[in-house]
Amino acid sequence: MLSVAEAQALIFGHVRPLAAQTVPLSSAAVGLVLAEDVASDLDMPPFDKALMDGFAVRSADLAAGRHVFEVVREIMAGQVAGPPLEAGQAVRIMTGAPLPAAADTVIMVERTRTAEGNRVHFDDNFTRAGTNVLGRGREMRQGEVAVGKGAVLRPQEFGVLATVGRTTVMAYPRPQVSVLCTGDELVEASQVPSQSQIRNGNGPMLVASVARAGGIPKYLGIARDNMESLRQLVRQGLESHVLLLSGGVSAGQRDLVPAVLQEFAVQAHFHKVAMKPGKPVLFGMRNGCLVFGLPGNPVSSLVCFELFVRPALRLLAGQADAGTLVVEAVLQEDFAYRTDRQTYHPAWLDSEAGAWQVRLIPWFGSADLMAVTQANSFAILPVGDNQLKAGHKQPVLRVEERLSR
Ligand code: AMP
Ligand code: MG
Repeated sequence: MLSVAEAQALIFGHVRPLAAQTVPLSSAAVGLVLAEDVASDLDMPPFDKALMDGFAVRSADLAAGRHVFEVVREIMAGQVAGPPLEAGQAVRIMTGAPLPAAADTVIMVERTRTAEGNRVHFDDNFTRAGTNVLGRGREMRQGEVAVGKGAVLRPQEFGVLATVGRTTVMAYPRPQVSVLCTGDELVEASQVPSQSQIRNGNGPMLVASVARAGGIPKYLGIARDNMESLRQLVRQGLESHVLLLSGGVSAGQRDLVPAVLQEFAVQAHFHKVAMKPGKPVLFGMRNGCLVFGLPGNPVSSLVCFELFVRPALRLLAGQADAGTLVVEAVLQEDFAYRTDRQTYHPAWLDSEAGAWQVRLIPWFGSADLMAVTQANSFAILPVGDNQLKAGHKQPVLRVEERLSR
């Protein structure tokens, strides 16, 4: 049986970024990955710019020991600089305004006193040339790459892209992910189950997982455990970039998902991984559509999503890495366990004084989703019969960006 790492390597080896598209820089583009180098169309700042409210002067005058300047005019942000400054002259200038030619230094208004007859007095002998001035092109030069291919569009990238005049960019789109649940026992959340039925928790859970991972979820509904019902919905799901199925992949008589996928010529890359929970997980492809058969037990579905689906969605979306985050944390309490497959145990990860700490959550296995509501991560327990002691260095799979509740 494949190890988790081998299964991940198989997936990562098959996933290519989706075709880039032109997208407007609207809020829907937050978090997308840029698919082009965006060059600046101008020098930034486009002129020598005052960084303080004060007086623009020639530093040569300061070097020559001059303390009193004749104020010849005012320049506000948005106004043109006007004629060059002559020796002994100053202009009153506002933050963001252009310096006139020959001026190269701005004296903060707080450091000056106004004197009679439009004059300003300045005492400091230590102001150097260039103080409080951002020279033309210091932020970026025309033609220089302002935001590079592969950059994730965060607020700061939006700001720079707008600065260089972009309202659209080439970016990798969000993957469309169909979610299809299987099971004769399932009813939707809005319904009251009979004695032999349960509500479909995995559908909403996987839809939420897709959304959190940056994909566009499309919920297809419940397929019953017969070939015809499965065929109908699988056909639809294969139109998406990714099809997620929940349930029906293990070895039971009514576990028909592998057979239906075979009918549709989905090429299976693996079926079963040495892990707990989640062993029956299946991965295949057809015409570029990635197909994941996730086991129906809720925690199995969730763990398989985090280990295999979320990284695949990142790669489809053009991210450079699969983003699986395993950290080493200090175990807070003794923990004894026995397992014959690498186990992902719900855990609470925290950081104290810069060091990761982890506590394992009481858990009775793959059906116990309630325990996972108390968790923010999964401790990775190797095969064995082990009595871990507090202080043990424990590998933990992070699944949440922010760890606080
Ligand atoms: P399966 O993988 O289809 O054999 O299902 C394994 C277990 O998960 C069974 O107890 C199912 O009832 C349960 N299960 C399957 N699908 C869902 C679902 N969508 N929501 C909640 N539980 C499910
Ligand atoms: Mg089933």
